[in-house]
Amino acid sequence: MPCELCGRECKGGKEAIIDGAKMFVCPDCIKYAEGVVQPEPVRTNSPPLPQRIPVKRTQNRERDIYKDRGMERELVTNWNHLIEQARKKKGLTREELGFKIGERTVTIAKVENGDLRPSDQTIAKLEKELGIHLMEEVKEVPTGLQKGTQTGFTLGDFIKTDK
Ligand SMILES: [Zn+2]
Repeated sequence: MPCELCGRECKGGKEAIIDGAKMFVCPDCIKYAEGVVQPEPVRTNSPPLPQRIPVKRTQNRERDIYKDRGMERELVTNWNHLIEQARKKKGLTREELGFKIGERTVTIAKVENGDLRPSDQTIAKLEKELGIHLMEEVKEVPTGLQKGTQTGFTLGDFIKTDK
């Protein structure tokens, strides 16, 4: 099973809490962990560790898309795969890529896992570093001209016009 942080195949990996999220990491990356997920009950000679509650992924992804009304640009759908593929093509590890763009390895890992939508700033840096395009222009769809979409129609209109 590959390490979810650096992406390397590893033996003896462990589940650990990194940035509030449970990840499977290799022995090299365990140093980034805030806590290790114990598969067995905590030993009696140490006080039980306070359980960290993983941060829920409640970030509203839609919100970001419509944030800048002027700039009708949004992330391509398979952005996380694009990043991972481009990084591998360049022969970079997640750590190395993170170092180049000034992001932590865990951020790169989360982005590639699709758990974290990179900020616009990070997107720009990734695009530059990897030579890829992660944003696509979204054309304003002129209402009334478009056939085959429901844009501009209410459900009632749609039923009426679609005999
Ligand atoms: Zn690792």
